[in-house]
Amino acid sequence: AADHHWLALACELAAECPPSETAFSVGAVVVAADGTELARGHSREGTDPVVHAEEAALAKVDPTDPRLVTATVYSSLEPCARRASRPAPCARLVLDAGVRRVVTAWREPDTFVADADGSGVLAAGGATVVVLPEHEDRAKAPNGHLLGR
Ligand SMILES: [Zn+2]
Repeated sequence: AADHHWLALACELAAECPPSETAFSVGAVVVAADGTELARGHSREGTDPVVHAEEAALAKVDPTDPRLVTATVYSSLEPCARRASRPAPCARLVLDAGVRRVVTAWREPDTFVADADGSGVLAAGGATVVVLPEHEDRAKAPNGHLLGR
């Protein structure tokens, strides 16, 4: 039940992203094992026009916070495996933060990059990825203009 609550929040955050023609609108929440929200973020947040949701959220957590190793990252879209805007994709940022569990609504389509397999990168790094497709429609809603092609 908690997974659904937090993933629904991530999908709400996705709707707050400034629209873009070149990147998905995504929301993310970092939640400790005891249910404490550690941080939240969304794509192109604040003054950073290329920041990704997971990146924005993780940047708000102290990297030495011991709760990260048992935390979950909830992301409306699967963390990216590669990106044009920065060298470190979100799947790598999640692993580097020590997080080993990700819950997402939707696997990344090959709209902007080929072989967008963030789940594969995460799994190879020892993380568990859970997909809750019940939230897929809400995760896709702010991205309709990118998916109509
Ligand atoms: Zn990303």
